[in-house]
Amino acid sequence: MTETINASAAPAAPVYTVTQERRIVTSIPGPKSQELHKRRLASVSGGVSSMLPVYVAKANGAIIVDVDDNQFIDLGAGIGVTTIGHTESSVVDAVVGQAGEFIHTLFTITPYEEYVRVAELLAEHTPGTFAKKSVLINSGAEAVENGVKIARKHTGRRAVAVLDHAYHGRTVLTMAMNYKAMPYATGFGPLASDVYHAPSSYPYHDGLSGADAAKRTITYLEKAVGATDLACLVVEPIQGEGGFMVPADGFLPALQAWCTANGVVMIADEIQSGMARTGAYYAAEHFGWVPDLVLTAKGIAGGMPLAAVTGRAEIMDSSQPGGLGGTFGGNPVACAAAIAVFDAIEKNNLLAEGKRIEATLTAGLEVLQRKYDIIGEIRGRGAMIAIELVQPGTGNTTKEPNAAAVSAISAYAAQHGVLLLTAGTYGNVLRFLPSLAVTDALLADALSVIDDAIAAL
Ligand SMILES: *Cc1c(COP(=O)(O)O)cnc(C)c1O
Repeated sequence: MTETINASAAPAAPVYTVTQERRIVTSIPGPKSQELHKRRLASVSGGVSSMLPVYVAKANGAIIVDVDDNQFIDLGAGIGVTTIGHTESSVVDAVVGQAGEFIHTLFTITPYEEYVRVAELLAEHTPGTFAKKSVLINSGAEAVENGVKIARKHTGRRAVAVLDHAYHGRTVLTMAMNYKAMPYATGFGPLASDVYHAPSSYPYHDGLSGADAAKRTITYLEKAVGATDLACLVVEPIQGEGGFMVPADGFLPALQAWCTANGVVMIADEIQSGMARTGAYYAAEHFGWVPDLVLTAKGIAGGMPLAAVTGRAEIMDSSQPGGLGGTFGGNPVACAAAIAVFDAIEKNNLLAEGKRIEATLTAGLEVLQRKYDIIGEIRGRGAMIAIELVQPGTGNTTKEPNAAAVSAISAYAAQHGVLLLTAGTYGNVLRFLPSLAVTDALLADALSVIDDAIAAL
């Protein structure tokens, strides 16, 4: 037997097909993007907007290349989807490999191993050591819808509760579960009934301890709904579109304890915060929260459309056969990609990368906060960090939202090759949601652009 000498136990350095650097060679958007944009305006519904209308030619690692050959540092990752990096090679190989075997049969007609394997991986990596089962679907909103259906069937109850500042999707049910009517629900009503919006924990603004915030939420639910009519409480452990609010310690476990005591199914919407984004597989882990059901979507399959509801086996089994599913749910190519993503998280130690990004971003943003008094708060976990911008000098007092600064900074950043997402109920949050492939050098470069952007205000 020949002995193979393994030169190093560390994973091989990734090979990039695009240089990992920012490069702007035209005005933004460039001429080719402007041409494509004209065609789009004539053919694509005006209801679909684009934050930055540069048309993409290629993306790899943490860089997006547009059709005019500009390169952007991608701090959005398609809203937390390409968490392990754009066109990560093992995901590309899995997609190509599976596409050559079979692309579709429909799991509810003739099943396949890839679906089962994803369900096993979800059972292993979601919080909680009890027996778990999953259903796979196509999108985050579909995961929310299925979570609600399952909770209603299991409890025999009608009402659904969510928290202030929540975002759960754009379908007919989920648009009623969002905090903001505009743009998600305005004009699209009537809204689904029996959805209740309870107070959340937003320590920067409410100053409440986790216990006090939970007491306020529970009091609301008991008075406005009544526990005996409540099927589920759906909560993002770190709120995404709302502005990356990190709840006070103890808030989430206290809500779970109340739900458990009252037979309410508590559902973690980890669609944005899950899949290794925050330095843990699921953000609930940071708060010692073990939910009954967990919703996964965005980052699960490296950019392929896939979503899941995972949770306590007895709850997941409450539906009659045929009650859950859908034509494309758990598509085999998407499942193969998801298996590659779980593999890459382990092999490349990506939970540590989340922690590295948190340290680098937080330190860099603290420097900016000392320099500029419009940065009210820096918050988040892992590669899910935000700054809330306030009117000059109000950061420790009235905390007046500064949406104009957020728009100006993100526009300046785009012109200089940094793709930066906004968020926040009041439009005054800049969110950093890079892929775990983003290097410290790219983050430092992006922060220098943001420094210039704030200086230019
Ligand atoms: C994106 C998102 C959704 C909706 O997911 P889609 O795939 O866009 O339907 C739901 N909840 C949260 C927290 C999200 O970030």
